[in-house]
Amino acid sequence: MKKIAILGSTGSIGTQTLEIVRENPDLKVVGLAAGANIDLFERQVREFQPKLVSLQSEAACKELRTRLADMQVEVVCGMDGLIQIAEMEEAQVLVTAIVGMIGIRPTIAAIQKGKDIALANKETLVTAGHIIMPLAKERGVSILPVDSEHSAIFQSLQGENRERVSKLLITASGGPFRGKTREQLDTVRLEDALHHPNWSMGNKITIDSATLVNKGLEVMEAKWLFGVDLNQIQVVVHPQSIIHSMVEYVDGGIMAQLGMPDMKLPIQYALFYPDRRPMMGKRVDFYELGSITFEKPDMETFTGLKLAMCAASEGGSVPTVFNAANEMAVSLFLNKKIRFLQIPEIIEMCMDAHKRIASPDVEEILASEQETYELIRAKF
Ligand code: NDP
Repeated sequence: MKKIAILGSTGSIGTQTLEIVRENPDLKVVGLAAGANIDLFERQVREFQPKLVSLQSEAACKELRTRLADMQVEVVCGMDGLIQIAEMEEAQVLVTAIVGMIGIRPTIAAIQKGKDIALANKETLVTAGHIIMPLAKERGVSILPVDSEHSAIFQSLQGENRERVSKLLITASGGPFRGKTREQLDTVRLEDALHHPNWSMGNKITIDSATLVNKGLEVMEAKWLFGVDLNQIQVVVHPQSIIHSMVEYVDGGIMAQLGMPDMKLPIQYALFYPDRRPMMGKRVDFYELGSITFEKPDMETFTGLKLAMCAASEGGSVPTVFNAANEMAVSLFLNKKIRFLQIPEIIEMCMDAHKRIASPDVEEILASEQETYELIRAKF
């Protein structure tokens, strides 16, 4: 029996993780955390019977305690709650399916307690990869990628000598606005941006896919996860989302992982690694597919990716500012307060205003995040 805890159980990755638990009786959920979706969370707690659960606000926790009065479950709250779940003695693996930089502290706490991490929460590595990866190594903890591109790279590295990697090729669907001009992007609506051509995901990452910021975050995530230089990572637009990413070796050979665009495969792979478990679902039909295509990303139109590459190459606290500015700009866009093209404009403004810290600790990362939020709040 493998015991797991999940941060962000009510979200897109969280609910798909629970589907995998339903299909695999040798997985047991011991801890669950979510934000504010109390109705779904209550149903999850009743179904999976974890020992410890957490919601974001005191009020939500109070309400949950009343609702779950007939059950033997402890309800904790907020950041302390997330950390308590991350540190649970019973859990072997922590699935970080929470969205945003709020995942940093609980991820560090879990690593310090020796838990393996099934990592979906890419913002954590983007901003604190220089802290998390060495700590994981020191504690002998595995960071197992859940992001489909990173899982594809991880799968393509199996049985190979990592010293022989020449480059990582991260594929990108190009999002709903691939091929559009900046003039066209200026008038796109929220509803259009939320309509991803291939993947069904949470709102924030769906917008990040439309701006190509997500690809930039993935480049930074890959750099930390696989310990390669930035110039060894190339983004390739592949609109059909069948090749999930590739590794090129020194002899020119390329290993790729292909499959239908379905997050359950990388989640399950992370949970059972190095085993492969059977999974139901549609298979790739190459006759039906016919052809797959590739393009260079258009960084002049999708400046979010260009800014991400700048942030990645500057390093230090700059990726934190990039990420925090993006988180707030996306939230403003989701609330229809700004236009689509203002997302990269806000990121650029914050990056320009920031004084880089070379190797920020967690306090400095969180201070850079707050400083970025304050700058945006003062203007929007
Ligand atoms: P969702 O928005 O669907 O879900 C986010 C989850 O985090 C929800 O359970 C939400 O709870 C919870 N949450 C948000 N804020 C808090 C908080 N302050 N305290 C506790 N819980 C909180 O996101 P996704 O599942 O799409 O994405 C999760 C992470 O995985 C992101 O980092 C994303 O980049 C990454 N990822 C996602 C993929 C996907 O296919 N969705 C693919 C690859 C990576 P509630 O809803 O109850 O408020």
